[in-house]
Amino acid sequence: EEMQEPMGCGERIFVSVRLRPLNNKEIDRHDVCDWECISDNTIIYRNSLYPTAYTYDRVFSSDCPNRQVYEEGAKEIALSVVRGINSTVFAYGQTTSGKTYTMTGITEYAMADIYDYIQRHKERGFILKFSAMEIYNELARDLLSVDGAPLQILDDPESGTVVDGLTEETLRDWNHFKELLSICEAQRQIGETSLNETSSRSHQILRVTVESSAREFLGNDKSSTLVASVNFVDLAGSERASQTSAAGARLKEGCHINRGLLTLGTVIRKLSKGRNEHIPYRDSKLTRILQSSLGGNARTAIICTMSPARIHVEQSRKTLLFASCAK
Ligand code: ADP
Ligand code: MG
Repeated sequence: EEMQEPMGCGERIFVSVRLRPLNNKEIDRHDVCDWECISDNTIIYRNSLYPTAYTYDRVFSSDCPNRQVYEEGAKEIALSVVRGINSTVFAYGQTTSGKTYTMTGITEYAMADIYDYIQRHKERGFILKFSAMEIYNELARDLLSVDGAPLQILDDPESGTVVDGLTEETLRDWNHFKELLSICEAQRQIGETSLNETSSRSHQILRVTVESSAREFLGNDKSSTLVASVNFVDLAGSERASQTSAAGARLKEGCHINRGLLTLGTVIRKLSKGRNEHIPYRDSKLTRILQSSLGGNARTAIICTMSPARIHVEQSRKTLLFASCAK
């Protein structure tokens, strides 16, 4: 098999941290960056008498382009889908830290590589399917359907769970994929105006399922078919995980967002310990939907994005703590 395992990406859970550059607004108000990536694995906080060092599988400095973050932080894990292995790539971090910027890049590079792989493996037949959901307030919504009714999650003896009625489009080609991406984007925008900056409060899951079999068996021998999914997840802003002072509807919403992020934290922590413990997938919609792409032999890449700004230092530390716990 030509796909090798570069730089520790062979591990089940690969955790990286990405620092974004200071933006113009931050530069204008003379904000400064106290963080420095001193190696490929270590980031330090300098603004104290005793600098603190944090070490991960990989650390990306503020000048790393999306291409490099993808190649070194997600590629191997995302592409295991063509070999029949489920995977999930997450972006975790506070609002404005660069989650969407990062996931958009990674999703497109991964899809381009999947298409490239298919081109180079004519001896197999491939079918790609695409679906997309948003989880807001513990309700899952189909991003490819205008109907807007909440999706039900059902238990399934084979895969753990299935999302009932979720639209699954068979991809014709790259352009079709791009078209579907813009539909998702538009659907997300619609939610945003009616629900007030939803993107910071909702989780978005883009799922690509790859089915393949040797040409001679195509369509008639199920046992030789490989099926797996890769999930690209743009999480709700992590500041929601610690938000406590809210009332009424806001409180309920806060709790629900907590539920997804907190349960994800617990699930990842337990999985990374690798012990044979009970994993509480059932405690949130997010982890239920992703169950088969987190546990078992599935592989996970988590890119924790952080703002360099001094005013965000508290949230940045929390993000690093989450990243440390995932290891
Ligand atoms: P989030 O999704 O976490 O709220 P975004 O991805 O929307 O954050 O990023 C906030 C802003 O910062 C956007 O304008 C985005 O283009 C910019 N940005 C984020 N990360 C980077 C980066 N690594 N390099 C350059 N610009 C970035
Ligand atoms: Mg975003």
